Amino acid sequence: MKSSILTMENIKCHFPIERGIFKTKQSVKALDGVDLNIYEGDTFGLVGESGSGKSTLARVVAGLQRPTNGRVFFRGKDITPLRNQESKALKISDIQMVFQDPYSSIDPRMLIGEIIEEPMLIAGWGKSERKKRTEELLELVGLSKEAAKRYPHEMSGGQRQRVAIARAIALKPKLVICDESVSALDVSIQAQILNLLDDLQTEFNLTYLFIAHDLGVVRHMSDVIGIMYLGEIVEKGMTEEVYQNPLHPYTKALVSMIPTIEHRIHNRERIVLKGEIPSPMKLPKGCRFHTRCPYKMKICEDINPKLQEVEEGRLVSCHLFN
Ligand code: ADP
Ligand code: MG
Repeated sequence: MKSSILTMENIKCHFPIERGIFKTKQSVKALDGVDLNIYEGDTFGLVGESGSGKSTLARVVAGLQRPTNGRVFFRGKDITPLRNQESKALKISDIQMVFQDPYSSIDPRMLIGEIIEEPMLIAGWGKSERKKRTEELLELVGLSKEAAKRYPHEMSGGQRQRVAIARAIALKPKLVICDESVSALDVSIQAQILNLLDDLQTEFNLTYLFIAHDLGVVRHMSDVIGIMYLGEIVEKGMTEEVYQNPLHPYTKALVSMIPTIEHRIHNRERIVLKGEIPSPMKLPKGCRFHTRCPYKMKICEDINPKLQEVEEGRLVSCHLFN
């Protein structure tokens, strides 16, 4: 039996904001009741359109964002971030993050060697230890020793992402969150970085929370996937099962949009969703997806369906399956 490494229980993250000249108070419901369980050594792929709450979820897991409601457990221990404790967690914990744009997480004035060493410095490592580990890490991520003396702008996007990965694994974390880590890269470079992540996972038994808006990228990485829509997970299951037989209408639409030879062979129809994703400030009543759903029924306008197990290990929130 695999053991659970990360559990989220009913996580809500509402950002209060004031709008317009009357300063009307509203809130952005970035996460609205997320339950999640990730097993040790697995890759959990999280997919959803831009604005669905993926990065907010990543920040809550990394301890950078305090949820409005709910609890986060890491290996059974409550790690729900507390007020004022926000940024400390990321640098020292067993949970590390690799962002889409390394420029947002690394200081462009620092040398690559310094960037990779920084977490060790914060953890109080001595100089020779740091140097040794940095060399080891550069090799692990496929960079030369000389790269340590270069600046981020002297490197390509793919190389910078290798640096971000080296830094993230420097202190041997257990869980690495990749938030759109390959989304900005060209397809061939994407494949190289995905291979690197794969190799590192095998070598160090890492667990990944792998986030992308692109289903294609997530498919090859993930054991399990969760589909997010407007702050909720609407479907969850073993990756291949979800791809072969998507159950939630939103997942069906996402899967139908992946351009693959497979789809042409099976002559699968594309499902084009009407309209845009609603604002998380004005969530639709009832099922969040009903405004765009081709299968909408009366009940969908009034009642938000719960995420329920419909087959073993397969969870869906949709009235079609209640
Ligand atoms: P994704 O990563 O899926 O694109 P995000 O988690 O970045 O989604 O954002 C979800 C929603 O929450 C968006 O509408 C975004 O504008 C909003 N949001 C995120 N962070 C904040 C914040 N600090 N204050 C207000 N709104 C926020
Ligand atoms: Mg994001």
